[in-house]
Amino acid sequence: MEISLPKFCFLEDKFVPWEDAKVPVSTHALHYGTAVFAGLRGYWNGKQNQLYVFRPRDHFERLHDSVRFLLIDLKFSVDELINITKELIKKNEFKCDVYIRPLAFKATGPKIVGMDITKIPSSFLMFALEFGEYLPLGGGLSVCTSTWRRIPDVGIPARGKISGAYVNSCLAKAEATLSGFGDAIFLTEDGHVSEGSAMNLFIVRKGTLITPPVYDDILEGIVRRSLLQVAADLGIPTEVRPIQRSELYVSDELFFCGTGVQLAPIAKVDNRPIKDATMPVTKKMQEEFFAIVRGEREKYKHWLIPIYE
Ligand code: PMP
Repeated sequence: MEISLPKFCFLEDKFVPWEDAKVPVSTHALHYGTAVFAGLRGYWNGKQNQLYVFRPRDHFERLHDSVRFLLIDLKFSVDELINITKELIKKNEFKCDVYIRPLAFKATGPKIVGMDITKIPSSFLMFALEFGEYLPLGGGLSVCTSTWRRIPDVGIPARGKISGAYVNSCLAKAEATLSGFGDAIFLTEDGHVSEGSAMNLFIVRKGTLITPPVYDDILEGIVRRSLLQVAADLGIPTEVRPIQRSELYVSDELFFCGTGVQLAPIAKVDNRPIKDATMPVTKKMQEEFFAIVRGEREKYKHWLIPIYE
């Protein structure tokens, strides 16, 4: 498989050629998952000759929240991180849809082996890649309920994007893949619907969009929050409340949302087809979402940062 690698990466405090962006094998994060990250998308609009990054301020504010859990010293402010993002995209001359991955991590400490993160210095990197669909967007996605439970917030903070916690996501995704499903839905320890392996979830019942609350161990997703607002603006009723597993089987429609997945309609849950295969609400939300992120809705342009002058 041919992978096209970007030219430049940001490491520590400067841009370096991709080949020179290396970290030592003693890096604490590599052994213990002591890193936090963000995932942003940039959308190319060919007509406007512009690349728009979706809600970077919100992503970097959440990154600043995430570092608090692991005592990572993130030395760049939100504005500085936005500037690094702009510079990174320009240096790589991207004129396509991109995925941007900042990572703040525990580097090498005085003891190398050990769990005391209080004395381990922090480091930072950011790269961007040309990126397309993460999951199919056309409506054929078949998902399962995972036998793995979503890590409870009292184990690893769910509202942080903490690298180590993604082992939980990988277990669920691997189980889904090995069983022939496209992705998985996590339940919380007490059996409520939480989210997908690495994305939030909405169900639609009788025209109302419903999504689990933040206290059901979800990541506080930026796309989820955006869609709640867009739905309200469109006059579509929304509810944020606990969802039971059985409710998945009687939903009219379901979809995943998040930066990576964008807005992916779900056709089947645990091999049961959804009730309304025409997916009217999901399709409306999907249409709005893609128009917004590509800079085609004036009303939401303040969510976007244009890269090229
Ligand atoms: N939940 C998890 C576990 C995630 O990793 C993500 C991000 N991919 C989301 C939800 C969606 O969050 P956002 O809309 O901020 O990308």
